[in-house]
Amino acid sequence: MTAAPAAALPAGITELAVYEVPLRTRFRGIDIRDGVLLRGPAGWGEFSPFWDYDAAESRRWWGSAVEAAVDGWPAPLRHSVPVNVTVPAVDAHRAHAIVAASGCRTAKVKVAEPGQSAGDDLARVEAVRDALGPGGAIRVDANAAWDVDTAVTRIRELDAVAGLEYVEQPCAGLDELVALRRRIDVRIAADEVVRRAGDPLRVDLREACDVVVLKVQPLGGVRAALRVAEAHGLPCVVSSALESSVGIAAGVALAAALPELPFACGLATVALFTGDVSSSPLLPVDGALPVGAREVDRLGDVVASGATAARWRARIDEVLAA
Ligand SMILES: [Mg+2]
Repeated sequence: MTAAPAAALPAGITELAVYEVPLRTRFRGIDIRDGVLLRGPAGWGEFSPFWDYDAAESRRWWGSAVEAAVDGWPAPLRHSVPVNVTVPAVDAHRAHAIVAASGCRTAKVKVAEPGQSAGDDLARVEAVRDALGPGGAIRVDANAAWDVDTAVTRIRELDAVAGLEYVEQPCAGLDELVALRRRIDVRIAADEVVRRAGDPLRVDLREACDVVVLKVQPLGGVRAALRVAEAHGLPCVVSSALESSVGIAAGVALAAALPELPFACGLATVALFTGDVSSSPLLPVDGALPVGAREVDRLGDVVASGATAARWRARIDEVLAA
């Protein structure tokens, strides 16, 4: 960024940089990912709330970036973190190739994409099972798209053809998750219902899920996410918010600091980017990511346009004023 935002930045922040990277495949309705990197005494932090999040909801994302840049993270309990390959809502052939190339033993498959059919989901999940072999784990993420009856039908079908480790956020509401959980045998993981809650510590997850998905930026940082994990006392899995290697390093730091880590984490999403801010991007080797920040030495490759940088400057002002 050439000019600092109008509002005062936290003490210690010495540099802001805006990145912009095309994605390999449309994901979560976006083709280009962009965000801000903050540099402080502890290193780099990432602030990249999606554009459909307002200033109030983006405040926790800002807190996460400031934690990374100014305070750093709690000490890790492990040196590497097992991760899943993330399969966007692509055709079966492409899904097979993505999984086969990943080196991961667990796959998270997007389902219930608007405009696609149940048959598209089945074909994709079957192809993923074929690529993983019988020993791999498959989880699906419906991003809250189904009502309870549809979820029951779709989850039973997908589980019958491929066997599911869990289904992530099949329905939107807590009550729906409770009702669904009584009707299926597959475990339910809660994502949006936790991270988009006014207070993620106080969501009543009893009866609603078996697993909690933790995302560092939406929860306000590594320490805040650890408090969410502790408050719910359920098995946790860490997932990304589709960040550059700077944001992913925060997710890895959280996964490395959790007392228990029973599932592979959804942190291999730099693979969905066509470029990165680091010459050593956080991509999995043998299905795992190393713990520790990456060198930010490729900002020039992914520098945002002036219009995007100006948009982020205005957004930071808005968030600091909120
Ligand atoms: Mg999700």
